[in-house]
This record gives sequence, structure tokens and C-alpha cells, in this order.
Amino acid sequence: MKEVAIVSGKGGTGKTSVTGSFIVLAREDKLDIVFADCDVDAPNLHLLFKSELMDREEYHGSRSAEIKEEECIECDICVDNCRFGAIEDYKVDPILCEGCGVCNLVCPSDAVWMRDRISGYIFTSKTDYGPMVHGLLRAGEESSGKIVAEIRSKSRTIAERDDRDLIMIDAAAGIGCQVIASLSGVNIALIVTEPTKSGLHDLERIIGLVKHFEITPLVCINKYDLNEDMAEEIEDYCEKNELGILKKIPFDRSVEGAINAGIPVVKHDENCGASKALIEMWGEFSEYL
Ligand code: SF4
Ligand code: SF4
Repeated sequence: MKEVAIVSGKGGTGKTSVTGSFIVLAREDKLDIVFADCDVDAPNLHLLFKSELMDREEYHGSRSAEIKEEECIECDICVDNCRFGAIEDYKVDPILCEGCGVCNLVCPSDAVWMRDRISGYIFTSKTDYGPMVHGLLRAGEESSGKIVAEIRSKSRTIAERDDRDLIMIDAAAGIGCQVIASLSGVNIALIVTEPTKSGLHDLERIIGLVKHFEITPLVCINKYDLNEDMAEEIEDYCEKNELGILKKIPFDRSVEGAINAGIPVVKHDENCGASKALIEMWGEFSEYL
């Protein structure tokens, strides 16, 4: 079983459109896949596939203090020691509480207990292309790397149970902890970039991360024809750094149409320029697999 991640140094490069099309093309090649949306702040891969929810698990990524009224002797020690001002009238404000546990440590009356907080959910859905594992972190929750690790672990369990060939991961944009958690241990990272100065800058940053994990990096320049000079500069950069450019995808209004219709572009119009490039790109990519 192989694991691949589709990543980008910044948002808006078309990473999820590429992932959606690759999922379709992988199935057309008779690969049994599991796909995982590891962008837990703004998951959107599910918007491209009709799905049926099979399972919803609570994700506990943080804790919150609670005071047992009957045990509290109103000594104010916890109030004085809470750096976040989360305790008032011997009650904890769950929004302000950071779960540090200091109140629990200093309470002389054993009146504070720490409870797991629901920080988000992990969903497993059934689609025509295979199981999809996706998550959603509640607003304000920070342990996003940990929920991504759990999404990946769940994807692996399903893939091993069903003897599937491939796990395809749609990672969050950037180089933060969600992306680090999405990349560790994958076989190939496909980096989707765009022909702008910031696209090149963000590509350089994410290449550093991919190389750190000793993952085979492949690059695709999306909407390359919006700035062909810049696309050339990115190609030069890739050549100098011995990075494989997989394919350049032209700007194509059909992609927007596909997003609005909620289907991957290769299903929406397989003859448009973007779809043709994606189909060729999948051919090359599957050779790396
Ligand atoms: S766990 Fe930390 S932040 Fe929360 S109430 Fe206790 S001391 Fe304050
Ligand atoms: S430290 Fe314990 S006993 Fe004192 S006010 Fe806080 S909860 Fe109550």
C-alpha cells in the first residue's frame, strides 16, 4: 500500500481540484483507494463527491477544567493562579480555559477535575470512489496536527482492513503542523504551485519540508499560462534542484464550472484543456507509484 499527499505552499493553487481528479483517475485505473481530507480547518474535498456518512467520532484534542461546587472551599487559590482569567465565582469559563491544569494542581480541596473537551469530529463517508476520511476542528481549537494524525491512522486502518492499494491525502495549504502531520511517512508528495512570485517562494519553503522527510517531491504548475515567464522561472528552479516537474496545467474555466457543479473536472468535461493535462499527469504520476 502506498500513501501520497497532494500539498501546496499556499491556498488557492487548485490542490483540491487536482486531488479530486486524481481520485477519479485512480479508480478508473482500478486502484482501490482510501482518500483523506487532512485540511481540518477548511475541509472541502467532500464537496466534490456524493457521499454517505458512515461514522462520526468525537475528537478530543484538549481539556478543560471544571470545579466541583460541593468540594470547593472558596479559597481563591485557583483564581489567583489562573493566568488566563478563566475562573470567576468559582466557575470555569470553558472558552477562556486553556486546559493548562494549574488550577487542578494548586487546589487544596481536590475540587477541580480536568475533562476531555470535544475539539472536533472525524468522519468516515462512503463514496463511489472509495471510503473518504475527513475531519473538522472546532473554531479556536489548536491541536490540528494531532487530528490529522488520527485521520491518517483511521485511513490506514481502513486501507489495511480492505487490502487497498493507495491512500491519497489532500493536505492543508502551507507548512504548518497539519501539513507536517500529512507528510510524515508518505511515499510521494505532489506539490501544486502557481506561476507567481509568491508561488515560487512558497514552493521553496514546502520543498524544504518535503526533503526533510525524505519524500519524493513532484511539482505541478497550475494555471501556468497566466504567467508563462514565471512558470519558466519555476521550471528552472525545479531543474536546478533536480525536482520532477510532472505537468503544467493550463488555466481553464471548466475547472470553475466543475467546482460549482460539485464534481472533479475530469468528470465534468474530460476534453477540456485542464482535464487533458490532468489525465496525462496522472499517467506519469502512476508510473512513480
Ligand atoms: S486549566 Fe488552566 S486555564 Fe483552565 S481554569 Fe485551570 S488554570 Fe485556568
Ligand atoms: S482552589 Fe479549589 S477550593 Fe480553592 S477556590 Fe479553587 S476550586 Fe475552590
